[in-house]
Amino acid sequence: MMDYDVIVCGAGIGGVSAAIASARSGARTLLVEQYPRVGGTGVHSPVGLICTYFDRAGRYINIGLHKEFFPDLYEGPPQGCWSYDERELLERYETLIAAEPLLTVRTSLGVAACGRSDGRIDRLTFTDGTVATAHAYVDSTADGNLSALAGAAFQMGRESDGLLQPATLTFRAGPVDLRAFGIDEWRSWASVTQIWDQLKDLYLASRAAGKTTNPNGGGVLAIPSRDGTSLLFNHTRVHAVDPTQPDSVQRAYAAALRQVDELWEAIRPHPAFAHARITHVSKKLGVREGRRIIGEYLLTEQDCLGEARFPDMVAACGYAIDIHNPQDGTTRLVGIPGSGYYHIPYRCLIPKDRTNLLLGSRCISGTHEAHSSYRVMAPVSAIGQAAGTAAALVARDRLQDVRAIRLDQLHTNLRRQNQFVETMS
Ligand SMILES: Cc1cc2nc3c(=O)[nH]c(=O)nc-3n(C[C@H](O)[C@H](O)[C@H](O)COP(=O)(O)OP(=O)(O)OC[C@H]3O[C@@H](n4cnc5c(N)ncnc54)[C@H](O)[C@@H]3O)c2cc1C
Repeated sequence: MMDYDVIVCGAGIGGVSAAIASARSGARTLLVEQYPRVGGTGVHSPVGLICTYFDRAGRYINIGLHKEFFPDLYEGPPQGCWSYDERELLERYETLIAAEPLLTVRTSLGVAACGRSDGRIDRLTFTDGTVATAHAYVDSTADGNLSALAGAAFQMGRESDGLLQPATLTFRAGPVDLRAFGIDEWRSWASVTQIWDQLKDLYLASRAAGKTTNPNGGGVLAIPSRDGTSLLFNHTRVHAVDPTQPDSVQRAYAAALRQVDELWEAIRPHPAFAHARITHVSKKLGVREGRRIIGEYLLTEQDCLGEARFPDMVAACGYAIDIHNPQDGTTRLVGIPGSGYYHIPYRCLIPKDRTNLLLGSRCISGTHEAHSSYRVMAPVSAIGQAAGTAAALVARDRLQDVRAIRLDQLHTNLRRQNQFVETMS
C-alpha cells in the first residue's frame, strides 16, 4: 500500500496544474493517469486555441502555472488569437513535472475503485490492482470519474433534457499555403475567420449534396499552427455521446472519423491545400462535457454574465458562454460583459457531503451553461492549481474536512505561485 499526502487523478491541464501546485506546496503527491502519457485533452485531442486569459482591461486573470505552460503568451500585450503546439505543451508538462521532487507520476494506470466511509475516501484501487491512500484527493478526470466512484452527486447535460454538448475529433493538415486565403500575417481573428468563411462555402456545398453526416452548420473552424504551415480542424460534431460509457465513445470516434474524411474531401480543392494532406488525426475523441459534480455552490450562467464576485474566489474566468448545441449544428457564443470576467468560488470545488475530495478540472459544480464557459484550458488550469494548493494545505494541517481550510492561507499560497487572486474587503 502506497501512502501520499495528496493523490490527483487525471493528468490533463487541470490535473497537471493540481499536482505541480500540490507538490510545490510541500505535499508528497501522486498523479495518476490512465493514458500512457500525461496531457489529457489539450495534448492528445489538441484543441488549437488558447482562450481568453485576461480581462477587458487587458489584465491577466489566469497566470500561475498557465504562464509556465505558455510563457510566450505573457511576453507582450494579451493575445486575442493564439494557437499552441501540443507537442511543445507535452514537453513542458513533462519538464515541469520532472523538476518536482515530491511529485510521483504513474501513467497507464486508471483509478478503478474507491474505498470510503462517512463521505471520506480512505483508499484508491488502481487498474493494476495496487492500492494507495492519501490525506486528500483531487478529481481532475474532467468527467468526474473519481467523484462518481466516491459516491458524489452529479448532473449531466442540459437541465431540460440531459443532453450534452457534442464531441469533436480534431485533425491536422499541411503543408498549407495561407496566402491562398489572402493572409500574410494570421495572428488576428479577422484573418482566421477569413479562412473559416472561405472553407465554409466548400463544406456547405458538400453538405447540401448529402456528402457528409456532420450536423455542424457553421464555418469550418481551422486554426493555423504558430508557424502558419498547418491547420488544426475543430469542426466534426457527434451528438449524444456519453463520455462515461466506453461503448458510446468508441461509436462516436468511428462516426467522427468518417466526418474527418468527408470534410477533407469537401475542402481539399481549395488552392491552399494544393500540397497538403492529413498529417494527424487525434487518437482521443474531444469531449466537451461530462459529469458536473454537485458542490457547495452551483455556478450559473447568471453568475458568469453578471461578472460574479465571491469572497472565496480561487480562480477567474474570462471566456464566453460557448454552447455547441446538443441537438443541431448551431453554436451560442455570449461574451462576458463589463469587466469581462467572473470569479469561481472555492465552494464549487467541494463536492457535497464529501470531506477529503476536491475538484480540479472542468467537472466543478456549475450548470450546463456555466460549464460551457469555464471548461477551457486557462480557467481549468487555475481551478486545478487552486485544488492542488488547497489539498496540500488540508494534508499539511491534517484537516478532517476540506471546508476547514483557512481561506486567507489559500489566497496567500496562490499569490505566492503568481496566480491571480482578488479578495473582497
Ligand atoms: C473539441 C474541443 C475543442 C476545444 N477547444 C478549446 C480551445 O480552443 N481552447 C481551450 O482552451 N479549450 C478548448 N477546449 C476545452 C479544453 O480542451 C478542455 O476542456 C480542457 O483541456 C479540459 O482539461 P481537464 O484537465 O479538465 O480534462 P482533460 O484534459 O480531459 O484530462 C482529464 C484526464 O483524466 C484522465 N482520466 C479520466 N478518468 C481517469 C481514471 N479513472 N483514472 C486515471 N485517469 C483518468 C483522462 O485520461 C484525461 O487525461 C476544447 C475541448 C474540445 C473537446
